[in-house]
Amino acid sequence: MKVKFWGTRGSIAVPGKNTTLYGGNTTCVELTLGCGRTVIIDAGTGIRALGEKLTATGKELDVHLLITHIHWDHILGFPFFSPIYQKANRLSIDGYPTCMKGLRYTFDNKMGDGFFPITFDALKAQVTFLNRINKGILEIDGTTIDSIPLHHPQGGFGYRFHEGGKVLVFITDNELRKDSWEGRSPDDYVRFCQGADILIHDSQYTPQEIPERRDWGHSDYESAFNLAYRAGVNRLILFHHDPSRTDPEVTAIKVLCEDLANKKNSGIRIEAARENSELEL
Ligand SMILES: [Zn+2]
Ligand SMILES: [Zn+2]
Repeated sequence: MKVKFWGTRGSIAVPGKNTTLYGGNTTCVELTLGCGRTVIIDAGTGIRALGEKLTATGKELDVHLLITHIHWDHILGFPFFSPIYQKANRLSIDGYPTCMKGLRYTFDNKMGDGFFPITFDALKAQVTFLNRINKGILEIDGTTIDSIPLHHPQGGFGYRFHEGGKVLVFITDNELRKDSWEGRSPDDYVRFCQGADILIHDSQYTPQEIPERRDWGHSDYESAFNLAYRAGVNRLILFHHDPSRTDPEVTAIKVLCEDLANKKNSGIRIEAARENSELEL
């Protein structure tokens, strides 16, 4: 399985000279499964460039789009995903139960028409809502995808991908906390991430910033590290960088997290997600 980051930023896109290394686009991650199939996680602003790449292949596309939740930074790129305007393409959508409503509303919110010049019903690609992951495991050509609810305002799903003995866990917009605020306990997340080769987790904040941002639905790097450590993860990728954070500040957070990993002699490799970077499992 290959992983490519097209958007790593949280909350709002922040292009500019301060974000050239880690990127300014919001959440979008491309997975290429062993069978060659493409699975996209989230339709933040990063999905625009991914769509350009897929369209440039000139092939008929048959791709999956998994949505974690429908906050703006995870869906607003969808109308700019060029494959949806080609008749030959097929797009299978799954994820959090509200995902179709959210994607549709990026085109035409009946409460206030006038947000986008095209309507959802005018899309040319064949768009199908699978609605399977909400009921259990989704399987795509031998790769299984399991989900866990997020600690996040209005909810959401994190995903665990299992393919040929390799495991990738993707959990963004998740507030890890000891008191199990609104749902899953820390132990549940540990079980879900157990033995993952790669864990990509929300690390928007520092531990010092958390008291002012309780209940906003995001984690600090130390909580993300503790989860990775307890779950025996090999590689932790810090994700959903705060929009106010410059490249040197994101690097500083990565270094602080590496210090934690070294102090515990954990052997966990720490990285901060960079737009356009690729990983392989
Ligand atoms: Zn977000
Ligand atoms: Zn969110």
